[in-house]
Amino acid sequence: MNPRTPPIDSSPQVQDSKRHDINVRTQLAGHLTGIRHAGLQKICAALNLPPPLEEGRHNKRDKELLQVVQKFANESISTAIQEAIDVPKSTDITVSGDGTWQTRGFSSKHGAADLISTCDSPKVVDIETCSKTCNVCLGAESLLQLGTLEARAKYNQIIINHDCGKNFDQPSGNMEASSILKMFRRSEKKYGVRYTEISYKGIEIQKIEDINHFGKRLKRALEVIKQKCGKEKLSDGKIIGGKGRLTDQMITPFQIYFCEAIRKNKNDLDKLYKSAQV
Ligand SMILES: [Zn+2]
Repeated sequence: MNPRTPPIDSSPQVQDSKRHDINVRTQLAGHLTGIRHAGLQKICAALNLPPPLEEGRHNKRDKELLQVVQKFANESISTAIQEAIDVPKSTDITVSGDGTWQTRGFSSKHGAADLISTCDSPKVVDIETCSKTCNVCLGAESLLQLGTLEARAKYNQIIINHDCGKNFDQPSGNMEASSILKMFRRSEKKYGVRYTEISYKGIEIQKIEDINHFGKRLKRALEVIKQKCGKEKLSDGKIIGGKGRLTDQMITPFQIYFCEAIRKNKNDLDKLYKSAQV
């Protein structure tokens, strides 16, 4: 620190730890927003704040942070499961599922899926991640390029002793369905509950779509149509965009409107059809 810079009062320390509250919260925020250490550095620089922890220490602290996050996630899931049981007073519960990929398209190396309870305030009851690569394996493979016996022995040692992160070798498009199937299969053993309502009789889950998922697809489809039409004149002689037409600002309200129509009329197709008419 510049000797002329007056000392800044730091935040309190975390209980039973030497870590400062602000550093822990900043690190957690970096993960929640997906910007990680590089993004935190940019934000601090833009705001003229002292930089976050140095990257090496940040990475080391990540392992500790992960343990704490996992502990809280497990506690939260246990509470959510209990809530989901208490409402219908049954261990046969209804859930909805959704998946996401790290990158768009169907070539992502990593993906995740979750199951959510269908109580008044839905909560996550299980999560599963899919990974087509493992950083330790990739790192160890560089040893093989050395071509020596020692390097080969070291490679074997690393491979045998590590907890491999790769757990998926199908096409990335199958990640969501495969993860949800896995969570359905383990529910009784792991939580003592059965997900019944949308399990396709427990035989096979092809795809579970929830309303939010539908909303995202609707929005994307409208964006694509709008882009395709461009300045082309439609049958009424006007272009698709412009005042009172399909503007970018209109697409999001459309998405909300249709999702709301489904939510309010999910048990009555006729009503749903009528309320979806603008
Ligand atoms: Zn591995």
